[in-house]
Amino acid sequence: MIKFSVDLTNCDKEPIHIPGKIQSHGFLIAVDKTELSITYLSENTGDFLKEQAKDLLNKTLTDLSSLIKQQDVAFNIEDLLQLGIIRKSFDAISPYPIEINGKPFYLIISAAVNDWLLEFEPVTLQYDIQSMIGRSASSMLQGKTISALLSGAALEVKKLINYDRIMIYKFLDDGHGEVVAEEKEDRLEPFFGLHYPASDIPKQARELYKLNLTRLIADVNAEDSAIITFKENEPLDLTNSGLRAVSPIHIQYLKNMGVHSSFSISLISHGELWGLIACHNYSPKFIDYKAREGSKLIGQILSSALEYREEEEDAKVIEQFKDTANILTDHLTRDKYLLEAITTHKTSILDVTKAEGVAVIFENELKTLGNVPTVDEIWELTEWLKINSDESIYYTHRLPEIHSQAKKYKSTASGILSCILNKELGEMIIWFKPEMISNVNWAGNPEKPATPSENGLLNLSPRKSFETWSEVVNNTSDKWMPEEIASVLRIREIIITDINKKANEIRLLNEKLHAAYEELDTFSYTISHDLRTPLTSIKTYAELMLKNKSIDENGKKMLSRILTGADKMNFLIKEILNLARVGRSELNFEIVNMPSLLEEIKNEVWTAFKADNSEFILGQLPNLKGDKTMIAQLFTNLIGNAVKYSAKVDKPQIEVSGYIDEGEIIYAVKDNGIGIDNRYYDRVFELFKRMDNVKEIEGTGVGLAIVKRIVEKHNGRVWFESTLNIGSTFYVAFKNR
Ligand code: ADP
Repeated sequence: MIKFSVDLTNCDKEPIHIPGKIQSHGFLIAVDKTELSITYLSENTGDFLKEQAKDLLNKTLTDLSSLIKQQDVAFNIEDLLQLGIIRKSFDAISPYPIEINGKPFYLIISAAVNDWLLEFEPVTLQYDIQSMIGRSASSMLQGKTISALLSGAALEVKKLINYDRIMIYKFLDDGHGEVVAEEKEDRLEPFFGLHYPASDIPKQARELYKLNLTRLIADVNAEDSAIITFKENEPLDLTNSGLRAVSPIHIQYLKNMGVHSSFSISLISHGELWGLIACHNYSPKFIDYKAREGSKLIGQILSSALEYREEEEDAKVIEQFKDTANILTDHLTRDKYLLEAITTHKTSILDVTKAEGVAVIFENELKTLGNVPTVDEIWELTEWLKINSDESIYYTHRLPEIHSQAKKYKSTASGILSCILNKELGEMIIWFKPEMISNVNWAGNPEKPATPSENGLLNLSPRKSFETWSEVVNNTSDKWMPEEIASVLRIREIIITDINKKANEIRLLNEKLHAAYEELDTFSYTISHDLRTPLTSIKTYAELMLKNKSIDENGKKMLSRILTGADKMNFLIKEILNLARVGRSELNFEIVNMPSLLEEIKNEVWTAFKADNSEFILGQLPNLKGDKTMIAQLFTNLIGNAVKYSAKVDKPQIEVSGYIDEGEIIYAVKDNGIGIDNRYYDRVFELFKRMDNVKEIEGTGVGLAIVKRIVEKHNGRVWFESTLNIGSTFYVAFKNR
């Protein structure tokens, strides 16, 4: 038995098409294309023909024909060869049935570079295989899905060649293979679902699989037969030879698995090697040429069915994604909130791709579905994406290689596909695919104990092959399919349209609200204005009548009530006019000298309220950029309230001060008056709202509404702190421009 120290990395370099040997279940003779003289001969030729066969080198085809005594007297290899040469193909001639020493043989003719190859192999099949193949093909094609098709094919091949195990082995993107269908004897351990390293089937072997669609290794323990020639350093090209000897590395591989005979059928899709139907037998088992050709046909039918089914399944995936997009569009139309629409229903944003997890970052909220990294990791990733993805869509199946932070969460997110909704706001959707390694059932995974094969041997160097493969797929997820990318682009379009639509609705509402406010302001302005003239008449005539001597005391009392009422009404009208004016007028920004403005206001207020009793303290007062008239109105109202609502206390004290804090100028107007019940905190700024404790004090309930409007017009804030019977402090804050 040949002993090899097997190093898988050498496999790619081994010249397997010129091994100088053939498998010994048949024999080979090569004939020079121009001379038609015998140039190469397998050593075992004499075992099949007569002793003299070993002298055939450099002889003619007539010499060879004479050694093969045929019943058919007209048999002549040269004629046969010429026929093929004229037809430019030996397909119709091969296999040509002959008899050698009373036993049936096939002659199979093919071309090498400078020679014709004549291969002779025994005929073992007793029945007509043609009809059986027809039946096999039609039952196999009944499988509606790819996996049903593959299982059907495995079953039919098993019926045809009766090997112990038939596997359908698919090559994945990185070249490693997975057993995707299997038909086997019950006693055997299943290999279904196992993955094997790319090095198990080296590159040049794959090329040969594309040229020779079937390959039989009849008996791994049989001694090969050397090819002899007189041509020095010109090894015969055995690319097209069916008998070609097998690489010793591959023989060792099969022996390690306890396999005695192996047969493979290539599966080609779109011109590429899609996979193999790999057949193993655990005792030597030769397969007749016609059965091999039948299996080849099954392989070819399967190949084209696969192409068709794969296209069909791709189309199905596209359909599915489109359906998802339609359902999500419906949810978006029906639901008010985007996050809710795409994450809370049975069909969700996760179904847009084949990812295992998704994160949506929208309006500062993070929502996740499925298998995703931690919240902190996702936020960190969004920051990275904001900087590093220029395009609206970004995808990789090797994130940890590009972004080292992602190594921590590679098990859930070695692959990401993200689409940006709004870059400035950092709004985006990210789909996650896990690291491939965690999903794969590896034939030689050192973490899963290696299982001995049938004969007790362990598989070939499993640890080494696993390590090689882990290096390849480390930090890697399944690739993103073009269909997934198209689907994400589609959904992005839909979502952005929806966001714009919703923003537009809000904008329209705002515009309407704005228009309504303006209308209301104009209305109150006009009505207040128009009320003033009749009111002035009432007041003037009442005053005139008061001067009339003929009116008695009672009448005078009534007239002075009319006057008080008219004054009150006049004040209210003035206040409403003020409020409407704030709404209607444009801001006129200027730097306001606050200490001097407040001094003026103080004097006015003190006169108006006859507040000589009240103490006024003016603290630090930073200047402010704002509309001077409005700012004056604001402080008049606040200071007026402070004076008014503290007038009854022992020593009324009003303090106004200001300070700058984190980009804001904040002013405080403080009093030690009656205070405000905090239960009504939210209502104090409402129009016409007055507290219960101010019934005795005059007022309209408009002042603070004006204050609030002025502050809002300046994009500022207003609030207060107050304790009943202790006092209140009103704060106004403006951006420090
Ligand atoms: P009014 O004309 O009644 O003062 P405002 O709109 O200015 O109307 O104030 C609304 C209400 O808020 C007042 O009626 C009063 O109940 C309360 N209020 C405002 N300022 C103070 C204050 N400094 N101290 C106590 N209560 C106040």
